[in-house]
Order: sequence, then structure tokens, then C-alpha cells
Amino acid sequence: MSPEQFQFNLEFAKDQDHRDALASFREEFLFPQFKGGKCLYFTGNSLGLQPKEAKAALELELEDWATWGVEGHFHARNPWYSYHEKFSPLLAELTGSLPLEVVAMNGLTVNLHLLMASFYRPSAKRCKILTERKAFPSDLYAVESQIKFHGYNPQDNHIEIEASGDSAIIEEAEIERVLQEQGDEIALVLLGGVNYYSGQVLDIPRITRAAHNAGAVIGFDLAHAIGNIPLRLHEWGPDFACWCSYKYLNSGPGSVAGAFVHERHALNRNLPRLAGWWGHNKDSRFQMEADFDPIPGAEGWQLSNAPVLSMAVHKLALEQFSRAGMDNLREKSLRLTAYLEFVIEHVTKNSTSAPFELVSPSDPNRRGCQLSIRCHGHGRGLFQALNERGVIADWREPNVIRLAPVPLYNNFEDIYHFGSILLSILNS
Ligand SMILES: *Cc1c(COP(=O)(O)O)cnc(C)c1O
Repeated sequence: MSPEQFQFNLEFAKDQDHRDALASFREEFLFPQFKGGKCLYFTGNSLGLQPKEAKAALELELEDWATWGVEGHFHARNPWYSYHEKFSPLLAELTGSLPLEVVAMNGLTVNLHLLMASFYRPSAKRCKILTERKAFPSDLYAVESQIKFHGYNPQDNHIEIEASGDSAIIEEAEIERVLQEQGDEIALVLLGGVNYYSGQVLDIPRITRAAHNAGAVIGFDLAHAIGNIPLRLHEWGPDFACWCSYKYLNSGPGSVAGAFVHERHALNRNLPRLAGWWGHNKDSRFQMEADFDPIPGAEGWQLSNAPVLSMAVHKLALEQFSRAGMDNLREKSLRLTAYLEFVIEHVTKNSTSAPFELVSPSDPNRRGCQLSIRCHGHGRGLFQALNERGVIADWREPNVIRLAPVPLYNNFEDIYHFGSILLSILNS
């Protein structure tokens, strides 16, 4: 189905949903309610919806805790001692990694710091960090505090890649240019795989090659990429990556995050790291030896014992992705987002409003599911009017709305209804 064949009417939307092989996944989620029905939820990029099975998964662990107390570490139905090991195959599948390269642990920003402790090793000559301008604030704080932590000044040692012109798009060629010109001073490149603001997908293999050719280490923040686009981390070869699980991965507010360390580093016992007992050799962990003996692989970066309650939800949420298949989800996602783009164009053509401007890339291969739209001539009032009619979206001052149709639980009908609500607001 090409965008030229799209139609703005309910029958068309229903027909598309009827043909959707992934349609039944929508029934596995709980939606916030509006006037007795599902609201139009477009903020899976911020907090994914709750899988219906989450409650039972949590209750199971609570029961085993009640039944076993401390002995649940070994006797629970899912023994807590080795709980985190269940994530290796699931995360490997979703990120295109080897099982030993991935681990579920901590929060995203914590993992950024832990991985920078190992991979940002500035020397007098090569001490700078390269990021995109307007990185997510937490990443910015993490990067600048790391630079200061090593005794350098962020003003001179933090290079930020500008978006091109007055767009929000970062050109890969610009990153390559800066790496060619200043590469011998850059210790670390740290970029969002999918930009949280524009929804732009970076060409991860291309940028990884450029960073490595410049002699720099490269890591990716995949908060907006994981569960949104297919990933091939092992093959693409970045040194490290990390992500959170509460956005596209539907694992609940503040749930356990994840990290990737490429095989070529994951087995290196001599890499400096900030260590904790859960990263220590499992055979001797409880012997409480004095010498740290890291587990080979990403698991060796763990600090603390596993947060089983949040992991219980994370596990079933990842199993949903495995059942659906990330390539199938991407295929649906491309159609859904193209339909959203079509509907927004249709609506502004049929209203007196100034046309909305796409902040996200227009090339579907350069974006994930999210569209960021600049609403010229409108302010927060438009957002509030949408909200009062049951649309949950995200507003960035002064006039950008971010909408993320998520292929696991959004459908064409959601997008059609959004369009008709938008049209009625613009024409009222
Ligand atoms: C969501 C997000 C975060 C949030 O960090 P937490 O440590 O999970 O609170 C950080 N960076 C990016 C790029 C994000 O999208």
C-alpha cells in the first residue's frame, strides 16, 4: 500500500486494521480511558502502555517472596539469583547482538555513566566528547559531568554537532566532517540512535565506521531506538550502547534499563570499570573474595543484585516483542506513520490553518514511528483542545507536537480519529 492509495475515512482505516496480522497485540494492552472508551494514545515514546499480563507477572514474584522469603533466590519459580540471565537471549534478539554482549541492569543514565567510566578514557591529546546539539538533557549532564570528573573543561572539550540549516535534522556527512577535522582530539562519540526530539534515525553503521576511522570510541543512546527500529548492534560494531525499557519496551515507569558492550571489549578483563558484586564471577560471588573477577560479557558490568519486581514486567514485555517480531513491527510501523503523515496533510489542506511543518525527516528510512510536527500559528491551546477530546500526545514549547503511533498497540483507526478531531478543532 503506497501513500497515494491512502484515504481519509473510517472504512479505509478499519479495512487496514482488518488486514493487519499484528492487530491482536492491541488487545494485550491496557489503555487509559476517555468517555468509556480507549483514549487515543500517541506517547509510547515516553511511557509505553501496560501489558495486561504485567499484573500477574508481578503477583507471581510477590507470591514467591511471601512463600520463600530469602530462599526465593534459589527456590522461586524464576530463581532471583539468576533472574537477569533470562534477558540475554531476549535482548540479543531485539538488538541484533550476541547474548554475552547484553545485560538488563540499572537505569539508563546510570548505565551511561558506567559505560563512560570504561569507554571515556581521555588523554591530554585526545580528551573531547562529540554529541549532537540539544541532546536529551540527562545525556548532556552525564557527558559534561564526565568531562569535569576527569579534570577537563566542558566548554573546550564538548563538541556538539549542529542540525543543518534551521531544520532539526543532523546530517551524517556533517558528523563525518567533524570527525575528519578534529578526530584526533576526540576520545568518545556519544549519539542518540534515534533522536528524541525529531525522531530521526541515525545511520549507526556509517557513523560507527567514521568514529573508528578517526580513532575514537563510539557509544549510542538507544532510548528512542530500541523497540522502534530493528537493530544489528554486533554487526554495526559500536563499542557500547544503552537504553531504557519504559518507552517503546512497555516495561513500566522507571523499569530496569539495559546495556550492550561489543564482544571485542566484553571479554576484556583488564578494561577499567566501576565494579560491584553482581558483576563478579558467579561461582565465587558468595565467597566474598577480595579480588574482583569479572563475569565475561556485559554481565560483568553489573553492580547490584537484580530488581526482580521491575524485571518481571520487562521480561514479559520483551517476550511480546519476540512473538511479534521486530521486522514485522517495523513493516507495520512504516505504514502507520506514513498514514499519520497523510492524515495531517489532508487535515491542513481541508482547514484554514497554516500547513503544519514536519520536523521529522520526510524519508521513512530516516525516521522511526514518531512524527514531530511544528504547528505554525498555534500554541498550547491546540494541544489542550486535543487533550480535552481524548488525545494523549506530547507538546514541546513553543509549538511542536510529537506523536508516536506504536505498531504493537496503535492502529489506523486511532490515526483516522485523531485526524477527524484535529480537523474539527481547526475548523471550529
Ligand atoms: C528517556 C531518555 C532518558 C531518560 O533517562 P533515565 O535515566 O531513564 O531517566 C535519557 N536519555 C534519552 C536520550 C532519553 O530519551
